[in-house]
Amino acid sequence: MSTKSQIRLIRLAIQQARRSECRYKVGAVIAQGSRILSASANLQRNSSPSAFKFATYHAEEAALRQIRFVRNPTVYVARVGGSGNVLLAKPCARCQYALHQAGVAKALYTTDGGSIHSMRILGTLGNTRRGMAVREYNGM
Ligand SMILES: [Zn+2]
Repeated sequence: MSTKSQIRLIRLAIQQARRSECRYKVGAVIAQGSRILSASANLQRNSSPSAFKFATYHAEEAALRQIRFVRNPTVYVARVGGSGNVLLAKPCARCQYALHQAGVAKALYTTDGGSIHSMRILGTLGNTRRGMAVREYNGM
């Protein structure tokens, strides 16, 4: 898996995030190697009985809904701010759990500082300290 492919997939996740109509704009791409399996922004829950005013399907959940089981896929997650600036998009505990259940073992995600970080997805909730700097990406 080349750096170039990873940056291409993160850029696609950023494009997805920019299309989000949610308050927090997040995009996710699930890929097997360099092959794209699904891509989605986070989505509003239209007819949710939920009491949460801003309840959404997180981008990772929305992307997972589009795929069937595949071996060893990776998820790429990006978040953008109001001016399109790239922000931290580390998968939350709920998404980590859902990703693990679906066999996704690795996530690459954007950070506030302009890096792509990588983490292993473990099945346990509350796994929040697995981030590791991979590389800088410029020119988004
Ligand atoms: Zn989430």
